[in-house]
Amino acid sequence: MTTAFFQDNTAQLVKDAADIVDVIGEQVSLRKTGINYKGLCPFHSEKTPSFTVNPEKGIFHCFGCGAGGDVFTFMMNFHQMTFPEALKELAGRYHIQLPEQKLSATDQARLRKKDRLYKANEKAADLYHDFLLHQPGARAAREYLEKRGIPPDIVTSFKLGYAPERWDFLLKALRGANISPETAADAGLVVEKKQGGHYDRFRDRIVCPIFDVSGRVIAFGGRILGSGEPKYLNSPETPVFNKSRTLYGLYQNKQKIRKENQIVLVEGNFDLLSLVAHNIGNVCAPLGTALTPHQVRILKRYASGVILLFDGDAAGLKAAMRAVPLFLTEQLDARVVLLPPDHDPDTFVRAFGEKQMEKEIAMARSLPEFVFERLVQEHGLTLEGKGKIVNELRPIIKSMGDRNLQRSLFVSHFSRKLGLQPEHLLKNDKQSVLSTASAGHKRKHSSPDLPLKQKQILEFLLYYPEFFEPFLDAGIEKVMDHDTCQVILNCMTDIVPAEGSAVVDLLLEQLSGRERSLISSLLVKTPAFAEEKKNEVAGEMIHWIKHHIFDLEKDEITRRINEAHQANDTVLLMELLEKKKEMDETSTT
Ligand SMILES: [Zn+2]
Repeated sequence: MTTAFFQDNTAQLVKDAADIVDVIGEQVSLRKTGINYKGLCPFHSEKTPSFTVNPEKGIFHCFGCGAGGDVFTFMMNFHQMTFPEALKELAGRYHIQLPEQKLSATDQARLRKKDRLYKANEKAADLYHDFLLHQPGARAAREYLEKRGIPPDIVTSFKLGYAPERWDFLLKALRGANISPETAADAGLVVEKKQGGHYDRFRDRIVCPIFDVSGRVIAFGGRILGSGEPKYLNSPETPVFNKSRTLYGLYQNKQKIRKENQIVLVEGNFDLLSLVAHNIGNVCAPLGTALTPHQVRILKRYASGVILLFDGDAAGLKAAMRAVPLFLTEQLDARVVLLPPDHDPDTFVRAFGEKQMEKEIAMARSLPEFVFERLVQEHGLTLEGKGKIVNELRPIIKSMGDRNLQRSLFVSHFSRKLGLQPEHLLKNDKQSVLSTASAGHKRKHSSPDLPLKQKQILEFLLYYPEFFEPFLDAGIEKVMDHDTCQVILNCMTDIVPAEGSAVVDLLLEQLSGRERSLISSLLVKTPAFAEEKKNEVAGEMIHWIKHHIFDLEKDEITRRINEAHQANDTVLLMELLEKKKEMDETSTT
């Protein structure tokens, strides 16, 4: 959540300087009780205080609703700020210089270049916009927008423009404004010819400037007016434009989005403009690519729910499937509206009106449920059907690569729905699904209560992350089988080896919902383990982990023995009994 601008250590400096009791105390009346402060939770309504602030660790936690985190989390949630906004605000209040001044010469050169690109884009947006509004050559463009029902106020607020059908319109105009062809090329506005010289990238296109969240023009999306190809053309990536981290329309629509606390996500720029023209203003759109994890994280900063408007075709289902793990990871509520075949949001809202579109949005269905139902519709829930569903899910799981958290959330969600063990979705062996699907012995905990031992181990690791590796070697993930624990462990596996001591901060930053709540709840109370006993405690815990794994393995053998017995598989039975005997002998020695 930090940007390149604000290095992690600055965030730490600000955090150390900020008095969490002061900051929260401005909004919540706090009273000291022991080492903590207590007050009425600002995130849910309550009559007796369960909102706790621990100044020593800089953590807050509500035992009523589970809200929790550090001083940044509080600012972000309470004031609806983004992380950089919260950082800036607190840095200002505690007189901490953000490191913009401390940049190296290369960084300064890079910033100056970015500045030139912003200026070139800004100028280009002005020129295109002006051309659209006033030039006779833009008449067809104006008529086109009118025909598509885009009113003048939207043309203005989105600064729509027209790039005339010329090779050097922008090139010349920018040069007149002292912007060199090289800078224009770096900004993606013009293209360098092989034999030297440059030409305009956008010709005979309606152009939509793409703004970043602070309102700077960073790129353009252009739609051809005539019959040329491609129909849609975006600026290439540049030092100021990263497609996967940008959402079209977010700048213009962010107030509306925050007010509604919901984002409607559409595919195309014109879908978006059309919805805005029909008073559905909480919309944004990815830029012609599949939704990225980064975009989902951005969405999460602005609203607690996302509505995906998909076209009702097969591509829509595939896109929905790919989006599931992204939303599961961020624990961001995602719902789906599937439009009738042959409709996109633009044609739909123009044919049926905004009331009908709002009705569709209100009836949106949960994204993971939607994907699951579609797969069940297609394949059925027979063993064979389940096998096919698993085969459809596997490529998605595979595509998640080493993103452990994403993968385990996705796998646990669908294995639960299918009544299978998570391993069946992970293994690449088709037969295993069919042969063991019915075994269905359930060991996984997903009840809200965390088993005591798991809670203790987790608490210990939060305080002493240096023991994470030996715990991992001992097989901790086999005994920490509670959903919430597994999510946290997966996250720790990703960050601990790299980060060392800042584990808690990183966990609070990367996790949310139940997991973040569990961590803040463990940290607001007095630690159960004294520093000087940590080696001893670690030893005991590792011993317990190993012993417990052994017990689990024995249980598993016993279960398989019963199965082999029922199936009359004597060969397997003998083999298993032999194994069990060995295990019994080990445990008595
Ligand atoms: Zn609360």
